[in-house]
Amino acid sequence: MPTIGGFRSGVGVSRTQTVVLEPQFKTSLNLIEIDITYRCNLRCYNCDRSCTQAPDTVDMALGQLERFVDETRNRRKKWKRIRIMGGEPLLHPGVRDILPIFADFRRENPDTLIEVVTNGYGEKVRKAIGKIPREITLKNTNKPRRFQKKFVAFNLAPIDKRKHIQTDISNGCWITEECGIGLNAYGYYPCGVGGSIDRVFGFDIGLKKLPSRNGSLREQKRRLCPLCGHYNNRKFIPIPDREPVVGEPKSKSWIKGYELYRKAPPVLTKY
Ligand code: SF4
Ligand code: SF4
Repeated sequence: MPTIGGFRSGVGVSRTQTVVLEPQFKTSLNLIEIDITYRCNLRCYNCDRSCTQAPDTVDMALGQLERFVDETRNRRKKWKRIRIMGGEPLLHPGVRDILPIFADFRRENPDTLIEVVTNGYGEKVRKAIGKIPREITLKNTNKPRRFQKKFVAFNLAPIDKRKHIQTDISNGCWITEECGIGLNAYGYYPCGVGGSIDRVFGFDIGLKKLPSRNGSLREQKRRLCPLCGHYNNRKFIPIPDREPVVGEPKSKSWIKGYELYRKAPPVLTKY
């Protein structure tokens, strides 16, 4: 399908017909990434959850995760994949109580893949890996150091670039399709990355109910994507083709955002 300024245009459009534009990237509503904590023992450069740049010890409460499961049951929602993430999820102080909730969920919903995504770094994390229930799939990214060749310059906000002054950046990027909805202690977002942008900038726009359509997520993207360095690539770039990022470049919005965060982290309403 042809694209106009990054948006899909209608098919078979004649000269007299109105061109209907729709977002090129829609959030996959049957996938979710749950950031149960932003604690991390590795602190990578250019972390797109800002665990290095804006450390945080606010974790999702057990009750919030039970609420997510209840919402799913009540709506009869079928998830294709649930990812338990962070930060480093295995450093959540309550991880031993959290994982059984998802193991039970998997027994009830054998078609849902449940993954724990870990950096595999350090003794504590390695010990916790050994205790993951068998219903849950381990996705170990095995990060040995803080520098990650595949990472992008996350803190270069497209809104800080002259060329994007008039762009509708709410069009998002491949991540919202590939990874789906994000959930953290403050609610639902169009992607996990967006949830962490909100915790740093304090828009307080986390949805407190599970979204069933893309409309409300699109509104969130209008606030979040203009700050997100992933927008600069838009489409997935195979890892061998990525240029490694030197250092941790930051554009003016992020320099200011982190400065304000260091003075006083925003207080957001909880999910
Ligand atoms: S291991 Fe993951 S969450 Fe932790 S700092 Fe690195 S990228 Fe961020
Ligand atoms: S540009 Fe960033 S915030 Fe927007 S959809 Fe992509 S990852 Fe999410």
